[in-house]
Amino acid sequence: MKVLVVGGGGREHALVWKLAQSPRVEKIYCAPGNAGIAQQAECVPLKPTDLEALANFAAAQKLALTVVGPEAPLIAGIVDLFEARGLPIFGPSKDPARIEGSKAFAKRLMQTSGIPTASFWVCDSPTVARARIADYYAQHGADARIVVKADGLAAGKGVTVATSRQEAEEAVHRLMEEKVFGEAGAHVIIEECLTGEEASIMAITDGSHIVPLLPSQDHKRVYDNDQGPNTGGMGAVCPVPILPPDLTQQAVERILRPAIEAIRALGIPYRGTLYAGVMVTPEGPKCIEFNCRFGDPETQAVLPLLESDLLDLLLGAVECTLDQVEVCWKQGAAVNVVAASAGYPGSYETGKPIYGIEEAEAEGCLVFHAGTRREGDQLVTDGGRVLSVTGLGADIHEAMAQAYRGIARISFEGMHYRRDIGARNLR
Ligand code: ATP
Repeated sequence: MKVLVVGGGGREHALVWKLAQSPRVEKIYCAPGNAGIAQQAECVPLKPTDLEALANFAAAQKLALTVVGPEAPLIAGIVDLFEARGLPIFGPSKDPARIEGSKAFAKRLMQTSGIPTASFWVCDSPTVARARIADYYAQHGADARIVVKADGLAAGKGVTVATSRQEAEEAVHRLMEEKVFGEAGAHVIIEECLTGEEASIMAITDGSHIVPLLPSQDHKRVYDNDQGPNTGGMGAVCPVPILPPDLTQQAVERILRPAIEAIRALGIPYRGTLYAGVMVTPEGPKCIEFNCRFGDPETQAVLPLLESDLLDLLLGAVECTLDQVEVCWKQGAAVNVVAASAGYPGSYETGKPIYGIEEAEAEGCLVFHAGTRREGDQLVTDGGRVLSVTGLGADIHEAMAQAYRGIARISFEGMHYRRDIGARNLR
């Protein structure tokens, strides 16, 4: 079978790496891919958002499956386009992908399906938003925290966890009056602030059956001890002790299953990966957000522990036969650490030579490329997140040790990474 993976980051490298292990996969294409992916797949210079060109390519190559990594093509309707042309593709269509594309849609779905989540108000004007904030502070006192969110996609920057009424009002001003994220801030969600530890559960579904993957935990902030600005993700751990099997099952039954059923009831079944970001609170896991695709870098920690053939799972979702797919996991844990360019998540330079990948692999690590390219024979940096290094072990302690032994062998000018990925799980 010939398959195409859409995207070019660490998540897509992990998908390509895992698909390459399937005895049924003969050839993998990746659009646009990166220098690491190019070792296992043929990279095709097409943008993930050039939906027509991707569909033409899939048709011309008679691909058995296209797997979409990032959210933008899903939210833009790549699945609808492929399905209209009879091309097999893994991912939700445009309508259900609103679960990530519109936080107001997601929160209302949570509310109507009884999914545990923070109380919220969807506001369509700054006056209404300010009134909600004033009510909240009158009720909870001046020290309360409150969350202000842009409805639409804002590259992870549309959320403010405000520690004062003034900070919350400023966030409303930026989103609704200055319109810093354009239409994404036309509606805002004002939300109760939850406390607890965050984790993620990704599940593959055909719209009826659900295969939960092992729970994982992303590390969003750029510096150790969750300091500094948010990033696309600086590392991930799998599995996570705060979500033992019974709590994971509870989250599947109370969060993922009701969402999938509610979407089916709206008319278009959800097929693909549904990702629930949860806060583990004393009352159990509560849903913070849904994403309509695999997480990055969570995928780089989860897939190395999957024993089963990923292709079987993805095709099971596309063909609605997921109940016939058996899923096995390896024992142990995985810790993924991201090596980033100087300046990331702010502006950064590219083109810096990268050294030491083979040495990191000799330590037993899996080195997934995120932002890399080749200049002649030299591998160089080509993004903010450059490499995503996964260590494996019998437990998180061992997996951390391997990941950090590996990443210590890698170098490029200005490289930085967190030293504490996984550490909170050892406490
Ligand atoms: P990302 O792109 O990082 O996934 P996002 O822009 O889709 O984020 P959310 O996941 O909804 O937005 O929120 C981002 C972060 O803000 C969460 O990971 C969490 O740390 C914090 N957060 C969001 N909602 C709440 C809440 N109700 N209570 C406490 N913290 C929250």
